[in-house]
Amino acid sequence: MRERFSDGEAVPTQTVGVIGGGQLAWMMAMAAERLDLDLIVQTPSPDDPALALVDEGIFAPVADVEATRQLSDRASVITFENEFVDLEGLQVLADRGVCFRPSLASLRPLLDKYEQRQTLARLGLPTPKFGPLTTVEAIASDYGFPVVIKARRHGYDGRGTFIVKDEAQLRQLWPSWRLADLLVEEFIPFERELAVMVARGIGGKVQLYPVVETVQVDQVCRRVFAPAAIPETVVGEVEAIASTLITALDAVGIFGIELFLTANQQVLVNEIAPRTHNSGHYSLEACDISQFEMQLRAVMGQPLPPPQWLYRGAVMVNLLGFEVSESDYCQKREAISQIPGAVVRWYGKGASQPGRKLGHVTVCLTAEQWEQREAIASQIENYWYGQ
Ligand code: ADP
Repeated sequence: MRERFSDGEAVPTQTVGVIGGGQLAWMMAMAAERLDLDLIVQTPSPDDPALALVDEGIFAPVADVEATRQLSDRASVITFENEFVDLEGLQVLADRGVCFRPSLASLRPLLDKYEQRQTLARLGLPTPKFGPLTTVEAIASDYGFPVVIKARRHGYDGRGTFIVKDEAQLRQLWPSWRLADLLVEEFIPFERELAVMVARGIGGKVQLYPVVETVQVDQVCRRVFAPAAIPETVVGEVEAIASTLITALDAVGIFGIELFLTANQQVLVNEIAPRTHNSGHYSLEACDISQFEMQLRAVMGQPLPPPQWLYRGAVMVNLLGFEVSESDYCQKREAISQIPGAVVRWYGKGASQPGRKLGHVTVCLTAEQWEQREAIASQIENYWYGQ
């Protein structure tokens, strides 16, 4: 344990336990340094990104409750970078007094996408029409095609989301599915996808980050434009949804909320992540308080000032694996970092696989560059995916 000094007195640094040790925990560790907090992560492997920066690691899967018990011996608060946890197992620890933030009660309605949609509906928040998988005939008549089938749990980066184009394809896939593990929802022909980060403190204070536009390719986030170029009325609607949701769940921490915006300006919630989110990475460089610092401030009961822009805006591009390789892509990263305002964050994962998030780039934009944001994103993708 490190010590810090206050009025000449040595006081122990407070320790936060984090379930998960991927890139989100790695960036949380940067914020912990700023706030003079120690982090301990529970993560399967010593090669996981966060281990490069944190003080200690407990090497176990995120759903290993005994490992979380060990984490709780060393940390005053436990928070999450990964929600694929064993909630029932953790409840035993919570009943013994372990402090989880967000609380397990606020996570419970969110971990299963079907229950998440039910929660949204119960709160009167707009969400695509959804239901259980019954029969091919019922889905064809109730939802039409294309239709979306999703894994209720453990889906990420589009894994677990199937867009089925017609009845023949549905019939073909049907026998390979465990129906109880899936949900069906209407296909939304969205005009844009939006996202917002929302934080809430122990006293109930809510802080919002700007609403951003996300661009997915093959159901995986490729680009984020912050802020989104959308009417103020839509911004207000998204902010109201985010505040209502995090307050109704009485959650302490930070949530990432993904939404669809339709051609007639209707907003629908797609997904809630009860933690920091890819769509908020731009805040690390472009705002005075990053999403990672905001999460730590919230869970440690510190004040939550409103995050302020340091620039006109930002564009973030994910660097996704496009081949199986052990390369660290030094030359490509170097070329990208020459773009004015660009900061490359490389997660140090070692092995590349198609679709794997290896790093990201944020370009902080002046007012003049803002007009070039699409071109800047294309330039980054050309450097990264080009030969
Ligand atoms: P994950 O949890 O893996 O990120 P999502 O449910 O967010 O999965 O889906 C990933 C992407 O798939 C979305 O960003 C969107 O582009 C597309 N998608 C998901 N649900 C729908 C839908 N109901 N209608 C149209 N596109 C969808």
